[in-house]
Amino acid sequence: MVCHALIPAAGGGSRMGAECPKQYLTLAGQPLIRHALATLCAVPAIACVHVVLAPDDEQWPGADIGGEHAARLRVLRCGGATRAESVANGLRAMEGVHDDDWVLVHDAARACLSVAHVEKLIREVGDDPVGGILAVPVADTLKRAGPDGRIAATVPREGLWQAQTPQMFRRGMLLRALRAAPAVTDEAGAIEALGLHPKLVAADATNLKVTYPLDLHLAGWILANRER
Ligand code: C5P
Repeated sequence: MVCHALIPAAGGGSRMGAECPKQYLTLAGQPLIRHALATLCAVPAIACVHVVLAPDDEQWPGADIGGEHAARLRVLRCGGATRAESVANGLRAMEGVHDDDWVLVHDAARACLSVAHVEKLIREVGDDPVGGILAVPVADTLKRAGPDGRIAATVPREGLWQAQTPQMFRRGMLLRALRAAPAVTDEAGAIEALGLHPKLVAADATNLKVTYPLDLHLAGWILANRER
């Protein structure tokens, strides 16, 4: 089994309201993207970690960001207008990766990813015919809002999960899926559009996505308490 990682990092992160793209904000003394990168590089089963940047990105700190694992880092300057486009462009540009190889697509913004969760995903999905994703069962009661900002309905939470990343699929199948369904917001959505059912692998809330300024504080707290 051969696994690679692909980190789409060509977004602007406008919801953060920051001056630089969120992957370059400082988190625990490092550029945010460095955290997920270091985690994926620390997983022995992952052959190479590919990072997809916007073609005009001038803030990438250079391959040294990979530290002792810099040799396993590949930088691809082929980001697109959407996350799905960045992923598809990256899959096409990866060299030496076969259609049957697994690719773990991971958001740069999920900085608190742990090696244990990546290894659990690989263990549980490695012999699956479709692929799978990290996710967490929904804990809260869910409400659907009406146009007046009041509750229109309660949505039963039974069987509902929040999708996270990494999302692990075979390169060839994922490329085919993204070509057919380019408007999806995650890889699993494209695979589902093929009529297939990716596996859900339970992670936890520490694998949060840094989207709003408060998330940066939460992520800092998680990392600081994990290292202790
Ligand atoms: O903005 P959001 O948090 O949904 O982005 C998820 C990931 O997709 C981030 O790592 C971001 O850099 C990446 N992305 C991308 N190309 C885009 C938009 C987002 O690589 N055009």
